Amino acid sequence: MNIETARKTLGLEVKLIAFEDVFAWCDAIWIYRGFEGEPHALLASGKHSDGYINLNAVLQFPNLCAVLAKDLIKRLEKHGITTGNVDAVVSSSFAALTLGQEVARRMEAMFVFTEKEEKKQKWTGRFELPKGTRILQVEELITTLGTTRKVREAVLNSNPQVEFIKLDGKIVVATVFYRPDNLARPEPDYQIIPLIQKEIHNWSPEECPLCKKGSSALKPKPNWQRFLEYQRRFHGP
Ligand SMILES: [Zn+2]
Repeated sequence: MNIETARKTLGLEVKLIAFEDVFAWCDAIWIYRGFEGEPHALLASGKHSDGYINLNAVLQFPNLCAVLAKDLIKRLEKHGITTGNVDAVVSSSFAALTLGQEVARRMEAMFVFTEKEEKKQKWTGRFELPKGTRILQVEELITTLGTTRKVREAVLNSNPQVEFIKLDGKIVVATVFYRPDNLARPEPDYQIIPLIQKEIHNWSPEECPLCKKGSSALKPKPNWQRFLEYQRRFHGP
């Protein structure tokens, strides 16, 4: 997406936007469609995957970040989570920061964040949280909830006086993109409220069905334009 398209998106009725289309305009998403010659993703973990999301390509447009935050808040409101019962939003560093800030601004809440140090999320004492602060977790992208759980632990270890917002006994986390490998399996401890949810699968190289089909496994970042060719072919001009 270029800056002109991003500007035009500002102020569009969110209902009219299919969020997956926004992601496609921004070249932020590739999902394996099975075209002849289409590669699949080789992740940093060594696993192979049938999808890849680069949310930075969307969130780097603050107006799109605002549209996403606005609609995420609408979904939270449907669950009774509103400006009146959220005192603070917490997000991890770094990719979730602008989204968390925007959600907090619109909900008239505080915004705090944990900090990334040696692949961990730490509470560094930068912020003061009064007793009884009701905290909403916001993350831009959720795969396994690993980071989400670490953020909450880091906050609670240093701030036992706060409470995290719950729904039906589960902690709430709002996210733009939820991409687990099995949507039918609910999380025992978290209620995830996503704008977009899509199963994206990971396999070890030996078990990868896409390799068996003859597709080659490539690192997405250095080959992103090649992946996008297939994404564009799917979405059309
Ligand atoms: Zn493979």
